[in-house]
Amino acid sequence: MTWTIKSVLNWTQEYFVKQHIDSPRVDAEILLSSVLQCNRVKLYVEQDKPLSQQELNTMHELVERRGRHEPIAYILGCKGFMQDDFVVSPAVLVPRPETELLVEKAAAIFQNERIEFLDIGTGSGAIVISLLKLLPNAYATAADISSDALAVAMTNAQNLGVADRVKFVKTDVYQGLDSQKFDLIISNPPYIPNGDIDSLDEDVKKEPRLALAGGVDGLDFYRRIITGADKYLTSDGVLAMELGIHQSQAVATLCREAGYTIIKVTKDYAGIDRDIFATKEQGKYANKILELK
Ligand code: GLN
Repeated sequence: MTWTIKSVLNWTQEYFVKQHIDSPRVDAEILLSSVLQCNRVKLYVEQDKPLSQQELNTMHELVERRGRHEPIAYILGCKGFMQDDFVVSPAVLVPRPETELLVEKAAAIFQNERIEFLDIGTGSGAIVISLLKLLPNAYATAADISSDALAVAMTNAQNLGVADRVKFVKTDVYQGLDSQKFDLIISNPPYIPNGDIDSLDEDVKKEPRLALAGGVDGLDFYRRIITGADKYLTSDGVLAMELGIHQSQAVATLCREAGYTIIKVTKDYAGIDRDIFATKEQGKYANKILELK
């Protein structure tokens, strides 16, 4: 038989259903449009078009990878975040839509300011690069323990035109950083409790454990970031971090214990406490933090 766009999509969709892929139709369409280098609408306009043998072979390879629950972003080698396409590889966490909120809210606090900030656990660089684009007068240091992740982030900084405003350093949280004060320390740290890693979706388990596992209670990196911040934060500097589910109270307590009196937890679109912003009393940015929605 002749394989057409329509029959390939239908076959792939059924195969993905059997493999328990969450969005079987959409994934089939994304992979086929990448093979044919066209947009998804065209798959419908040209649904009776036959595929060449080479196109079929390429599609087959991608479908097998997706069938083994490799994240679509790793298969395509890129992921959209904010306004841009970021290069991604299995060395980095795939940027999540909810992390856009952390970037947008941090940008709202520092609008038009000439700040220097530190991104801990930069991964693909999605946070640091997007924030640099929103804050054209800002400069950043982006830190990660993984050299492979730093290489991905550097590529993205170059592709997206901010390489001249960001310095990449290999660190373990603060260990390895030169002494310097920042106006903002931002992070989406690994926050999954170690014991929950095994029950994550198969797709998520393909992402680097280094970027996910946050210790027994998932809070290890918050402890290290918060208790070590004094040395790296200006007196009115701000801590901004993404939170895992059910972690807002514990992280707020850690901030309070470390002397942060202005603390704001904000929710994501699902109504889950997702981000925390903290500064010391009467800091320059205290009002902006309290105004966050
Ligand atoms: N948001 C990721 C997930 O739950 C976890 C990322 C992280 O640990 N920071 O899939």
